[in-house]
Amino acid sequence: MTQVYDKVALIGLGLIAGSMAHAIRDGGLAGRVTGYARSQATRDTAREIGLCEVCDTAALAVAGADLVVLAVPVGAMAEVMAEIAPHLAPGATITDVGSVKQSVIDAVAPCLPAGVHFIPGHPLAGTEHSGPRAGFASLFRNRWWLLTPLPDTDPEALARLDRLITAMGAKTDRMDAPHHDLVLAVTSHAPHLIAYTMVGVADHLRRVSGEEVIQYSAAGFRDFTRIAASDPTMWRDVFLHNKEATLDILGRFTEELFVLQRAIRMGDGQQLHDYFTRTRAIRRGII
Ligand code: NAD
Repeated sequence: MTQVYDKVALIGLGLIAGSMAHAIRDGGLAGRVTGYARSQATRDTAREIGLCEVCDTAALAVAGADLVVLAVPVGAMAEVMAEIAPHLAPGATITDVGSVKQSVIDAVAPCLPAGVHFIPGHPLAGTEHSGPRAGFASLFRNRWWLLTPLPDTDPEALARLDRLITAMGAKTDRMDAPHHDLVLAVTSHAPHLIAYTMVGVADHLRRVSGEEVIQYSAAGFRDFTRIAASDPTMWRDVFLHNKEATLDILGRFTEELFVLQRAIRMGDGQQLHDYFTRTRAIRRGII
């Protein structure tokens, strides 16, 4: 592999930044990888496991970096950007990995110093684990990494970031931010909310009836519990920052749920069978 950047700075040292640190190091994709996280405990852990060169301030981490990656919860992007903006090297590229794109653009773009390129991005890869120990080099392999460049994005800076992402094993695609936020509301954000809710329902049932239900969880419910174990801060921020699209999709979801609820009440087996046949075909089309 050939080196793509001289110095990559990772702000936030959790699952995504940690996985990037491993993938960049293993592939020799940068001369140096520095990192910073707000919490001392996270920095200590990252140092202990040798994730990257851990710095005690964000300013030190980004000094002289030709790529800066914002890998903090979506709600922390504005604060982090304000902190690092005065320390960014001229000509540097900033990207982020946030699960929501329009709100990150709104937070980052106004603080962008002249001559610094901003290319928003989102790897469609993750697990329910968080923190610096959760990262692993193959997280992005064969996964999509969506980029939502702005109309004035420099094509060379974009091509270079694309080279890094593909060298980490991901496939890139481009779309505009509002479309990204709608697509992700359907494929990721609403499903997470539904998983949180299902586990909440089971827990409520247990509390009001005293009946143990969760320990008998079958395969489908176990998948819900895995998703519902996802990081609370990250997911709180996703819903608060992708409010409109999530509410739109939840409205549509509720309508569909009522259709199926009615079919069950009316004993309409044909309708249920037709519906499940369509959804099975969709699943078979994506694997
Ligand atoms: P994580 O919880 O594992 O790590 C977040 C890191 O950010 C932690 O090291 C924390 O200390 C640090 N942090 C929080 N606030 C900070 C601040 N103000 N300044 C500096 N550091 C701060 O989270 P993650 O899963 O790596 O997610 C990071 C970003 O990636 C989020 O924006 C998330 O939406 C996005 N993302 C997550 C997934 C996923 O499945 N986990 C997938 C794709 C994208």
